[in-house]
Amino acid sequence: MTTMNEQPAAPVASTSSSHAETRRWTTGPAAQNPQWRNHPAYASAMDALTAAPGLVRPDDLLRVRAALARVASGEAVMIQAGDCAESFYACTPEAVDARMEMLDRFAGALGERTGRPVLRVGRIGGQYAKPRSKPVERVGDRMLPSFRGHLINSELPSRAARQADPRRMLWAYRAASRTLGQVDGHRSAREAVARTADHGEPSLGPWSSHEALVVDYEAALLREDPRHGTYLASTHLPWIGERTRNPDSVHVRMLASVVNPVGCKIGPTSRPEEIQRLCELLDPHRTPGRLVLIARMGRDRAADSLPRLVAAVKESGHPAVWVCDPMHGNTVTAANGLKTRYLDTLVEEVRIFLRVLDDQGVPPGGLHLEAAGEQVTECIGGPVVGEDDLRRRYTTLCDPRLSPKQGQLLIESCF
Ligand code: PEP
Ligand code: MN
Repeated sequence: MTTMNEQPAAPVASTSSSHAETRRWTTGPAAQNPQWRNHPAYASAMDALTAAPGLVRPDDLLRVRAALARVASGEAVMIQAGDCAESFYACTPEAVDARMEMLDRFAGALGERTGRPVLRVGRIGGQYAKPRSKPVERVGDRMLPSFRGHLINSELPSRAARQADPRRMLWAYRAASRTLGQVDGHRSAREAVARTADHGEPSLGPWSSHEALVVDYEAALLREDPRHGTYLASTHLPWIGERTRNPDSVHVRMLASVVNPVGCKIGPTSRPEEIQRLCELLDPHRTPGRLVLIARMGRDRAADSLPRLVAAVKESGHPAVWVCDPMHGNTVTAANGLKTRYLDTLVEEVRIFLRVLDDQGVPPGGLHLEAAGEQVTECIGGPVVGEDDLRRRYTTLCDPRLSPKQGQLLIESCF
């Protein structure tokens, strides 16, 4: 690996990962991967994706890691935010700009409150697949195959629309490519103002992230860089979700093998030894900036579960960045059947998180939020006064998101 100050070489065309490499990861059990390998379009979709140019540059991955190392030391903080399930229709310039503005707003509030530089990371440009606990869901009065994100199927309420279609991997790639091009533009503009030259120095972003859930899509976007080795070219910061973080999973093994910084969700049922094992796999060299642990305990379990997990990670010497996801442990169903989250509850979980880290002398890394670029009415609090208000602008494809105003209120209430 090069040092951070080294000038990058002239751009090198990274070689596509071989089909053999892709197959290595797609053979064997891969939880949450769609059952689409016998679909007539599967092989050609995988071939096209394996041959496609990567969506991120390997040098940039080192710059994100350098920025995360500053977060790990407490010198900076991070905000990671965006849709629960990103839509293919949200790759328009207006929709991407709205989400960049939302990130700016959150970063502005967080920077003001903490007095620290803020690393911006979107759940953007690839957050197209959702883990689902059940294969079917109720839509109106019908039971249909669950919507699993635009990378896999359509949200439209018909049996045909809900079939998994591997061509969606190519559509996801194209939507991601357009989106990430625009995110790059926002980053370059910020770097020009901050006078951060593109020379391997840390950059505060905005960078991209998503849950690396569909093993087929991710494996087909593994690339080799002559200097840095294997990297995941689908996003800057891939993370492993709560349902796929089993240490023997393909998801964990794949992310263990790439040079990207990687994230991992940590839920309330995690045992300290299990998290230590995951950290050992994902961050064997204990490298600052390599590993982000995203705590999603739920308000009622955070005070009980989190302290021993943070202590275990600290004890094993991993300089992980700890961020709080107050969304996923606090989802409730309103009387009208809509999934929602109460801002007050989210605030309480973040406060517990901050207290626990403070008690242990570990710097809090920041927040991981589900939030929209528009003024949605999906969570309750601030301008959304109660459950009756939810229907006004409830447009999420999956979990309820904060509006930009609500996200700002959350940050200002916690820091
Ligand atoms: C998510 O981040 O949208 C998600 C599904 O989270 P988790 O894996 O923590 O449940
Ligand atoms: Mn979600």
